Amino acid sequence: MIKPVVAANWKMYKTIEESVSFVEKLKKKPLDWDEVHIILCAPYTSLFEMGNSLRGDSFVSLGAQNLYWEQEGAFTGEISVGMLKACGVEWVIVGHSERRTIFNETNNEVSIKATNSLKNNIHPIICVGETLQQKKNNQTKEILSKQIRESINDDSNNNNTIIAYEPIWAIGSGLTPSFNEIDEIHNFIKNEIRGYENYKILYGGSVKSANSKEILNLDSVDGLLIGRASLNVTEFNKILSF
Ligand code: PEP
Repeated sequence: MIKPVVAANWKMYKTIEESVSFVEKLKKKPLDWDEVHIILCAPYTSLFEMGNSLRGDSFVSLGAQNLYWEQEGAFTGEISVGMLKACGVEWVIVGHSERRTIFNETNNEVSIKATNSLKNNIHPIICVGETLQQKKNNQTKEILSKQIRESINDDSNNNNTIIAYEPIWAIGSGLTPSFNEIDEIHNFIKNEIRGYENYKILYGGSVKSANSKEILNLDSVDGLLIGRASLNVTEFNKILSF
């Protein structure tokens, strides 16, 4: 398998101090870093100090959880890609289901955000996933196909963009699809949606150390996007020890 990506989504957790302390502890753990690409997607407020703490260390990349598409201007409360870049950010989660559902982000907005991050050499991790109702209605593939076609535009390619498949019903619920289902959906994205066959696809949704190895062992899974289980450095290290 090519080097897997393990991305942490800290959501609205961790102060600056807690974030830097996590990084310092992570750096102490003797792992074979060449075997994994770690991306820590932290709250905006922690990025600058984490960037300082990580400077010169190539084993972990810094990520953000969102961005705005304008470079600057009267957009109260928003953060531009240039501001992220100045903190050392290399990756950004775009279109997480919490942004899509709580903040009404559309596929079109996700696509514009991805384009703007790419213009500034920040790589988007574009999230897609179905609701429980859509799964029950057997609409998963149709929904994913639409989300992918509309959220990922021609500026993206398999070298600059990653796709994260995150079933919405699995996020934070303790539930996961079966390994067969994860494999089937990842293969569907790679084989049946034209143009996406070489993209890296991460699985996200209730990953923890108890299931991470089996999920990563699936050929179609190129890495993991982890919420809750990434907040605790001991649990995160267990996930990294494959
Ligand atoms: C997420 O929010 O991206 C996520 C995968 O969360 P959790 O791991 O807590 O389900």
